[in-house]
Amino acid sequence: MQLRTKQLISGSAAMMLSLSALSVAAQASCANKSSIGVSRTITIDAAGGKLYGGLQYTAGDLLRDGEFILTFDDGPLRRYTRKVLAALKSHCTKASFFMVGRMAVADPAMVREVESAGHTIANHTWSHKNLQRRSARRAAGEIELGISAVRIAAQKPISPFFRFPYLADPKAMIAYGKSRDMAIFSIDIDSNDYKTKSPGRVYSTIMSQVRSRRKGIMLFHDIQRSTAGAMQRILDTMQREGFKIVHVVSKAPVGTIEEFDVQAQALHDKRRTVATAKAIGGGDYEKASRPRRTIRRTVVKSSDRKAIVSKAAAKRSNAFPSRTSAIAQPQIRPQPKADWRKNVWGNN
Ligand SMILES: [Zn+2]
Repeated sequence: MQLRTKQLISGSAAMMLSLSALSVAAQASCANKSSIGVSRTITIDAAGGKLYGGLQYTAGDLLRDGEFILTFDDGPLRRYTRKVLAALKSHCTKASFFMVGRMAVADPAMVREVESAGHTIANHTWSHKNLQRRSARRAAGEIELGISAVRIAAQKPISPFFRFPYLADPKAMIAYGKSRDMAIFSIDIDSNDYKTKSPGRVYSTIMSQVRSRRKGIMLFHDIQRSTAGAMQRILDTMQREGFKIVHVVSKAPVGTIEEFDVQAQALHDKRRTVATAKAIGGGDYEKASRPRRTIRRTVVKSSDRKAIVSKAAAKRSNAFPSRTSAIAQPQIRPQPKADWRKNVWGNN
């Protein structure tokens, strides 16, 4: 038994060594000779729950002097997420993307693009509601449908990292996150990119904090033009001034709950059906499915849910076992696309 434990330890030490060797190799092969790269990768064991980010939490300071973590919320949104990815790629560096489930359903290919570039995929709820203003049941539902929707889009398990919309963190939901072995990320440095369209403004807001604070979790939004336009210059300057980027990854992926997987899968399927119908010219299908009816039909009726869930349960082996009666599935109400984006993205 002792021998076995020893072997396990040396095994994980070997893995850590090979990981750091990989990161050095990645930097060495970077086409950009003045890239910021990834100075180190921190593997977070989120079991039992973790809290990071000095704005709200004092526990769990991950960083040393000169080290920063890049985080992007609210996406993906192709036209800006792509620009952010390009800037990160040119510096051979890695970030964490806290995605909104609804955005993932709208563009699952973009989720995969972020994932396959090696960035950490994390959750930012299903529809960016302020959980402070929701019952615990509904708030938990927002978190769970977000996890399932992003996970299905990624076609891979995702990290147990979570950020509250508007950084609004009710105590009950912090406790819930802990019960689900999630690492909750607040922030240290805010780009305030949603308040401006100017990349220059975001650049100076960020750089002044980088120089004065000298470490921290940085908050950007990859749905903001200002951030998309500023990212290259921010990384260029940080590299020139000797600052470092640290990549956070999770030891284990987040588990999902079957009934939310079922609901998220239905939403993904519906979106694909509508997209296919549009691609082949719509016609009768489009006429027959005005937004109101289209979206309503994506909600799994509670009478059907039991049957679907038990069917799905048979299929899924890695689903998170839980008493789900205490969690409400979000009601997907029809809302014009432009409206919800505008209403949602007023803040963090
Ligand atoms: Zn947000």
